[in-house]
Amino acid sequence: MTDGEIPESHPRYESLLTRHRIEEGVDKGITSRQGLIAQGRGEAFDYLLGERTIPSADDAERVAAAHLLLAEHPVISVNGNVAALVPGEVVELGEATSADLEVNLFNRTDERMTAIVDHLREHGAEDVKGLTADGRIPGLDHERAKVDADGIGDADVVVVPLEDGDRAEALGEMGKTEVVIDLNPLSRSARAADVPIVDNVIRAVPNVTEHARDLADADRETLESIVAEFDADEALAAAERAIRDGDGADAAED
Ligand code: ATP
Ligand code: MG
Repeated sequence: MTDGEIPESHPRYESLLTRHRIEEGVDKGITSRQGLIAQGRGEAFDYLLGERTIPSADDAERVAAAHLLLAEHPVISVNGNVAALVPGEVVELGEATSADLEVNLFNRTDERMTAIVDHLREHGAEDVKGLTADGRIPGLDHERAKVDADGIGDADVVVVPLEDGDRAEALGEMGKTEVVIDLNPLSRSARAADVPIVDNVIRAVPNVTEHARDLADADRETLESIVAEFDADEALAAAERAIRDGDGADAAED
């Protein structure tokens, strides 16, 4: 089966497409087998959220775009699931916000690092960081601490979709502004974020790009007020309400 063979009219089109891309990612050596488990966990939350971008997530996506546009040095971290699901979309987000892409793996192997860098290049990325690994995140064991000194090491704003909880916390402690995309509002990663986006990475990344394009001409003052008005705890609470109560609660806020 290829992407094109899943009929768009299928009621579970997006979910089938996502599974298919992850499977293909594993076959190509991009996604780890643990990535399959993470995907399953994510799907369960997406199902409960109604497989849609809830209003509070859309707000967070706009805030993320404002942070990226304000940043001195924004970096988007790419792991095996992200590379399999949204390779072209992260390249576009990087272009729309002048952010670097850096490959950053929980289970780091040279083969997978190279496969992901090549895959991103095939999707239009020019410069992909992550292979130098001459920087370290303090407080993590050796392999998981590795970053590029002139990439995530130097970034003021980092987007970490599907980041592991420990590393999300450690990055936060380095004083970086952290945007996390994670379907589980209770996960440590989402809780460690300055901007938690509780949405599927497949919807979230293109939507942040769209917001960035909308905000491209906004002045700093406008962007700063978008950032200042955001309340991360309230965003997490809204997502949890949407999950617990079904459609009504979150929709009723608008
Ligand atoms: P914790 O953050 O609580 O320590 P964890 O990071 O160890 O948990 P994992 O199962 O390793 O938990 O992480 C996978 C996370 O990624 C889950 O929270 C899951 O909801 C999220 N996830 C998986 N697929 C997607 C996706 N397509 N879009 C957004 N989030 C996803
Ligand atoms: Mg997590």
